[in-house]
Amino acid sequence: MTQAPTQPVSRRKPMPQPKPGGRVTLAHGGGGQLTDELVQNLVLPRLGNTLLNGLLDSATLPATGDARLAMTIDSYVVQPWRFPGGDIGRLAVCGTVNDLAVCGGEPMGIALSLILAEGFEMSALSRVLDSIAEAGREAGVSVVTGDTKVVGRGQSDGIYITTAGIARVPKGRTINPRRVQPGDVLIVNGPVGEHGLAVMLERELPQVTSVLRSDAAPLNGLIAQLIESVPDVLFMRDATRSGLSGVACDLARDCGWRVTLDEARIPVRPEAQHAADMLGLDPLEIANEGKVVAVVRPYEADAAVAAMRRHELGKEACVIGHVGGVSDGMCELHTVIGGRRIIQKPYGEQLPRIC
Ligand code: MG
Repeated sequence: MTQAPTQPVSRRKPMPQPKPGGRVTLAHGGGGQLTDELVQNLVLPRLGNTLLNGLLDSATLPATGDARLAMTIDSYVVQPWRFPGGDIGRLAVCGTVNDLAVCGGEPMGIALSLILAEGFEMSALSRVLDSIAEAGREAGVSVVTGDTKVVGRGQSDGIYITTAGIARVPKGRTINPRRVQPGDVLIVNGPVGEHGLAVMLERELPQVTSVLRSDAAPLNGLIAQLIESVPDVLFMRDATRSGLSGVACDLARDCGWRVTLDEARIPVRPEAQHAADMLGLDPLEIANEGKVVAVVRPYEADAAVAAMRRHELGKEACVIGHVGGVSDGMCELHTVIGGRRIIQKPYGEQLPRIC
């Protein structure tokens, strides 16, 4: 008679459990500290691995030989689905292309998943699809696979989109915050805060007329031009949810050095500042969809700014800060009036559903 196999003793640590009765809030989707907590406490203990744990905009996977592929995915739930300067379709393509490009990837194809509500107008859907096609042409990338689902009337409010993307990563590109050292310089390709503020104005104060428009744009052309002039870009991130402050705080945490932003040098258009003042928001914390922060060695800063300025989407590129010699992983703002203060990643959600 054979003996029944004994149950193997599990050596795995018990998984961290959420607080009893805890529920997801809108703020968990804001890309701020609460999103970080959700990812660190619930997602990574269960799904974490060497690729996912880096929490970069894309994962870079080894392919055959020296080849590497970057892969990314994002969902878009912006409300309203169209806004000055774009719509959910343009946003979905730009967001995915940009997450690939900031990791050094050259986009090869996009997967598109549409979740539509019963009753959503066909004319609106056509318009979104036209925007997807147009943004794809601008980026030089096509939708190569996709899926469509419809949920019942009232079970969602119109249209949600998920886009995934894949890109080839040329040999020798290592874009990683851990390469950043004291003395390195932060550059942005233009004025900040415009996407989130344009969506918020449209949603909250539709009676206000403004020239403010979303900056949603595919950045792969600009980034290719930058890398051509300065091949050794150390780190890049598109300043989406939680804005420029969020990128600077994440960079400081991940490189371990103090990052200093110089407020007087950060470009903010008057109409964006005006909208931010009306809504009681800080433009540095607002999402952009066509802005990249790049970190380069100090002796390459001029060449990097010049390379960006040669591109249509980088005409107002400039240096906005630097990495200092204090190893505390904090982010500091030198204010316009000469003050200094530590800035933190926004906690929760000032602006629900802006992307
Ligand atoms: Mg990103």
